[in-house]
Parts: sequence; C-alpha cells; structure tokens
Amino acid sequence: MRQSQSFIPTLREVPADAEVKSHQLLLRAGFIRQSASGVYTFLPLGQRVLQKVEAIIREEMNRAGAIELLMPALQPAELWQQSGRWYSYGPELMRLKDRHERDFALGPTHEEMITVLVRDEVKTYKRLPLTLYQIQVKFRDEKRPRFGLLRGREFIMKDAYSFHTSQESLDETYKKMYEAYSNIFRRCGLNFRAVIADSGAIGGKDTHEFMVLSDIGEDTIAYSDASDYAANIEMAPVITTYEKSDEPLRDLEKVHTPGQKTIEQVASYLQVTPEKCIKSLLFKVDDRYVLVLVRGDHEANDVKVKNLFDASIVELATPEETKQVMNCEIGSLGPIGVGEAVTVVADHAVKAIVNGVCGANEEGYHYIGVNPERDFTVAQYADLRFIQEGDPSPDGKGTIRFARGIEVGHVFKLGTKYSEAMNAVYLDENGRSQTMIMGCYGIGVSRLVAAIAEQFADENGLVWPAAVAPFDVHLISVNAKNDEQRQLADEWYEKLGQAGLEVLYDDRPERAGVKFADSDLIGIPIRVTVGKRASEGIVEVKVRQTGETMEVSVNELIDTIRRLLQ
Ligand code: ATP
Ligand code: MG
Repeated sequence: MRQSQSFIPTLREVPADAEVKSHQLLLRAGFIRQSASGVYTFLPLGQRVLQKVEAIIREEMNRAGAIELLMPALQPAELWQQSGRWYSYGPELMRLKDRHERDFALGPTHEEMITVLVRDEVKTYKRLPLTLYQIQVKFRDEKRPRFGLLRGREFIMKDAYSFHTSQESLDETYKKMYEAYSNIFRRCGLNFRAVIADSGAIGGKDTHEFMVLSDIGEDTIAYSDASDYAANIEMAPVITTYEKSDEPLRDLEKVHTPGQKTIEQVASYLQVTPEKCIKSLLFKVDDRYVLVLVRGDHEANDVKVKNLFDASIVELATPEETKQVMNCEIGSLGPIGVGEAVTVVADHAVKAIVNGVCGANEEGYHYIGVNPERDFTVAQYADLRFIQEGDPSPDGKGTIRFARGIEVGHVFKLGTKYSEAMNAVYLDENGRSQTMIMGCYGIGVSRLVAAIAEQFADENGLVWPAAVAPFDVHLISVNAKNDEQRQLADEWYEKLGQAGLEVLYDDRPERAGVKFADSDLIGIPIRVTVGKRASEGIVEVKVRQTGETMEVSVNELIDTIRRLLQ
C-alpha cells in the first residue's frame, strides 16, 4: 500500500488523556481513534492488526474443532429475563427499547442466545458434543472505561460455547480450548500465564484466566519461581505451617491505648511485632455477621471467607453495622467476649499466636497476653488470608512471587447454569431427557491488540511481532524527488509485493526525518530504505526490534527479509 494514498494520521504529541503506553502509541501511530468514552474506530492500520489476530484465533479454534457462526448483538430482553440476568447484571448491561416499546439488550456476552439456539436445534445425544464460536462486537457499560482498547464499552470478543452429555466430555473440550488459547497467545508473541481463577457466582469448579504480564495489569498473579503454578492471588491457597513458640503464657490484661487504631500504631505503641497482633474484621456474609481473625502482618481474603461459608455475598460491615452488632468502632474490634450473634473464624496463623494483642471492643483499649482458646473461642480455623510473596508455592515447588497481569482470555466450566434456566435438554441413548452441560471460552480480541502493543513498544514507538504486524515491510524512499531513488523504490515495491510480502511504501514527499520517525512509531518489523546508494542497487535494511541495520544489494533483498522475518 502506498502511504500517500492510505489513511495513517500520526500525531507528534502524546494525547493528554491517554495514560498508558499502548493507548498513547495506538493513537499516535494512527491505529485507533476514540469516538466516545470506551468506544473506538479501528483505522486502517489498526484494522489490519485486528485481522491478523483474528486469523490466528480462527486457525486455532478451527483446529481445536470449534465451528464459527455469528450471532446478533441486539438481543430481546426475554432471553435475559429467562436466565435472570436481566435483573442481576446491573448497569453494565446496555438496555434499549425498540419503536414498539419492547426491551432489548446489546449483548455483553452470549450464553443466553447460544443456549436457546442449541436448545431449539439439537435434540439428541448424537449431535453432541458441539462447540460453537464467534468473533463479534460486545457492549458493556463499564463503570470506568480506560486505557483505550483495554477496557472499552464497545469491544471485540471471541466467545465460544460448548455443549456436552457428560462432565468427561466437557473436561476434554476444556483441555482443547486451554491448549488452543496457549497456542494463540504464544503465536502473538506474548509473555503470558494461565492462572487459576475464581469461578465467582457461577459456581463452576475449573476456570483459568490467561494473563499477559504487564505492570499496568489490574490483576495480581501469584506464581511460583520454580514451577508453572500461577493463580489469581485471591485463589492461591496458603500451605504455610506455623510453629507455636513455647514461651510461658502470661495473664490476660486490658491496657489503655489512646488513639492507637491501626495494627502498625498499636504494635509500635505496645512495642510488639505485627506478628503478635490479631487483626479482627467484621464481615457481613449473606445475612449473618462473621468476625474474621488474621495475624497482624496478613490480609484477610474475602473470597476465601466466601468459599468457607459457601456464601453469595461477602462485604465488610459498615461502621453503623459494626456499632450495632459489636457496640464499638471498626478499629477496636476483637474476639474476646463476642456474643452468640457473631461467628468467629480465624486463619491458621492465629492459632499459633502466644501472648498476643487484640482489640477490646472498646475505644482506646486493647488486650495484651491474649491466647487463643484460653481467652476466646473460634468456631473454625481455616485458610483465610491472602498468599504473600515469599510464601511456599501451593504445589510444593518453589516460592511465591507476584506479577501484574492483563486478562486477555478466560476458559470456564459453566455446568448447567444456563441450560437449566433456558431448558436446554436432549434425549440420551435410553430416550431420557437430560440437561446439557456447558463450557464457555472468551478472548478479548481488541484488548489483546492493546496488550500486544503494551508488551511490544520502546521509546520510539510500537514494535509489532511479525505474526500480527500490519505489514511485513516498511519501504521508504528517502527523497521522493530523486528519480533514481523513486524508480528503484517503485520497482521494489512491486517486486516485494509479488514475492508475497505485505509492504507499506512511504512515497510521500516528506522530509526523511519525518518518514523515519513515523516508521519507528508505526513499528513494522522490517524497514527498507532506498537512499544515496540507489544507483548501485544497494538499500538499507533495518530491524525495528533490535535496531540492527545492514546494507543489502537488491538482488538479496527478498531472501534477507524472509530470513529476518522468521
Ligand atoms: P474484566 O475482569 O477485565 O472486566 P471479565 O471477567 O468481565 O473481564 P469476561 O466476561 O470473562 O471478562 O470476558 C471475556 C474476555 O473479554 C476477557 O477475558 C477480556 O479479555 C475481555 N473483556 C472483558 N471486558 C472487556 C472490556 N470492557 N473491554 C475489552 N475487553 C474486555
Ligand atoms: Mg468485567
């Protein structure tokens, strides 16, 4: 493509409202433009990258046996009412009415739509398992759309759904999808991890998120430095065992601690380490109150609390609720003398505390010489804290480290949540009606483009991996007014194209400096510059990623480019 005839509006300045590198560079290099908060146009270069990424996804999904279809974004409200999500999805669901005042939603995801489709068309076990997918636009009215394509309100997703007659069949497809996802992200050149995730309200057991490692990621991953173990931090079990010290037990004593509220304040005021302190947090777990105890240097993990009680909602009690239930401030909470109405649970580490410190449920006072079991009772000890860096890895191999990640994909065993709600049944071998078992598998395609840009960039611009680059070669004539240079560049623009290479040809009558700066910004893997030595048939080849340059005779140009692209 000739750049003079293309549409690649580059910007010199960093756009003021773009906070992260990928967002800034995709705007500056002319890949995307914002049309409303969280809503973007893919300009021609952006569209080319998107198509490359989609092609990789299609190849791997097809190879894994999934079949492509395309469902509508506009969905009747009845579907969502049937699953109950019309009421539970909240304001993220974009709702609208047609001219007859009928309610519709713009699909944030397509479980309802596909379940009804398969229900109506598949009646027998002979047609199962079945995996269908689409690459399609999604709508979510996100509270905080940000970071450009990373969190949009209109975005492109690949969503796949599988239907089965048995758990084993679901397990098999889940494994295939997991592998397909690994292939896709590997082919995009990404540094990623598949992490064990929380299955949330849906209640399925197995679920993995695919995370691209990046400092701007919103999720924290706990991974082992010695194995491929990785989990969302809220999910990682703690396997540390705690030794109880054999120091003699002291008497329980209430002491005055005016104004000392946080663990740090109390520990330093009483001259003890945070490990000696018991942190008490009052949670509302569905409709009961639970006092959760963890060691002062640990953080209580609400997902683990939720799982312990098999609850659907876990929230910290408000100051008003705390006052009402415990008759004190949040900062004074403690487990001694707690009434029947409150269940006390504790992390394993608390059991090993000897002569500890805790709040006295009275402003300005703490207990010292606190000993669990002697001074208070605990209904249950469990793993209730967040894993920390330095803890042993839950698989027993190595030590836990933390990293930040951008979630680009999600594989999920749904079970029968939607098939039950939408009555998706089939007849088994004995003619009996059975509920289909389902899995779902998503990739944020437009988010993936931004995640690649986030990982592949330097101070001069984007540095696309060859597999997803908008073009293979950026051909530049230094001086378009020089006949020799222009003719050689024109000639090789044709020849490279005939050789099957995708070439962006900067034939614009711009200064060389402008062309080079734009070229670095756009980030095509190979730059070929036709300049001073055009008359000798010699051009300069530059590798965007390494900065390596070489003078090459045009006779060897195609071979050189092919070699470098590999
Ligand atoms: P997040 O926690 O980031 O909001 P999610 O758990 O809501 O993601 P899913 O419902 O699992 O996401 O959707 C499948 C995939 O779609 C995600 O893995 C992610 O890559 C992508 N995705 C989700 N929300 C957005 C968004 N607002 N903009 C771009 N991509 C998104
Ligand atoms: Mg979300």
